[in-house]
Amino acid sequence: MYSNDLPNQVVSIFRGILSNETQNVSLHEPTFKGNEWKYIKECLDTGWVSSVGAYVDRFERDLAAFTGSANVVAVVNGTAALHICLLVAGVQPEDEVLIPSLTFVATANAVTYCGAIPHLIDVAGDTLGVDASKLGEYLKEIAVIQQDGRFYNKNTGRRLSAVVPMHTFGHPVELEGLMELCEKYRLVLVEDAAESLGSYYKGKHTGTFGHIAALSFNGNKIITTGGGGAILTANQEWARRAKHLTTTAKIPHRWLFIHDETAYNYRLPNLNAALGCAQLEQLPLFLDQKRKLAAQYVQKFSGIPGISVVQEPAHSTSNYWLNALRLDAPDINLRDSILERTNGSGFMTRPTWTPMHKLEMYKASPQMDLSMTEKIESSVINIPSSPTLVNSFYKEE
Ligand SMILES: *Cc1c(COP(=O)(O)O)cnc(C)c1O
Repeated sequence: MYSNDLPNQVVSIFRGILSNETQNVSLHEPTFKGNEWKYIKECLDTGWVSSVGAYVDRFERDLAAFTGSANVVAVVNGTAALHICLLVAGVQPEDEVLIPSLTFVATANAVTYCGAIPHLIDVAGDTLGVDASKLGEYLKEIAVIQQDGRFYNKNTGRRLSAVVPMHTFGHPVELEGLMELCEKYRLVLVEDAAESLGSYYKGKHTGTFGHIAALSFNGNKIITTGGGGAILTANQEWARRAKHLTTTAKIPHRWLFIHDETAYNYRLPNLNAALGCAQLEQLPLFLDQKRKLAAQYVQKFSGIPGISVVQEPAHSTSNYWLNALRLDAPDINLRDSILERTNGSGFMTRPTWTPMHKLEMYKASPQMDLSMTEKIESSVINIPSSPTLVNSFYKEE
């Protein structure tokens, strides 16, 4: 047994503030307290449930208004959004795309769908996302410009075409440094903003810094459409292209079925969009509840040595999608005994994703030094983060 008392301390803090008497406390549950039933009933009553219907257009408009993105294309899930973002960004087979090793597997898979190769890069300790200055040093070493004006990996001879920062648990990446690098090395900036709806970097919504970005509305995200995603871009031509590629490349016509290239059936159904419209109306409430929940965790864990709560990085407003504890000293055994104790006591907690460089299909991918990724893997634990949990605190106080 691990002698450290931290696992017990974590459980007793959870017991003090989260009620798990009737059922286990989950990591993140969706909340349906708004117009969900009303909008979905309307879809069923009118028969507009599938690929055509007013809620898809409305959801896209509402997302554009909320994020400040000029164009939004709603799609079936976040992975599909990433796939299309990369295609629209011009990622070609055999290109290398720089992605953090610390991410959900969808980021790497989307690169693979394009026939390209994920090139794994390290993250920063404060943001948990791509470390721009470390990447800058690395590119100085490996990137060489060729006749075509583009940069290539001198070790593999492959073109470096894009970089995909991911805003881990909703915390914004340090985007300014990264944008400078993209400029310098002619990389397309594709933001994986799947986790960061409602998160801002220097006052501007995440997903609006890159050339194009992907959102996700999976069941565990801050708002859900059941399954769903969206593509954000300021570039109208790219938005048109994204829409075309996600709707089987059909040429609009009153009755003819003409498709001008092999494309995808990735359009978000109206039924899911209806759910999304109702959820988006409640996003400001969820954001408020999540900030309060995070603040409570920070307060309760502040006196416990050896552990802290992950907080939003400088210059950022995080949506605090998933709260996380972090051990001062990375220690995979201690991490595991905290996971054991908390899950065994009815409080769902989870480690970070297994980094991409440790997965069978990506372990041979080109990669830089990934020491911070490994430190984070052995020190960070996600803890219950449903927005409604904040109510149990208020009962107590
Ligand atoms: C959720 C998520 C996605 C997309 O997931 P879908 O389930 O396909 O909507 C992509 N990247 C990250 C980092 C995610 O967390």
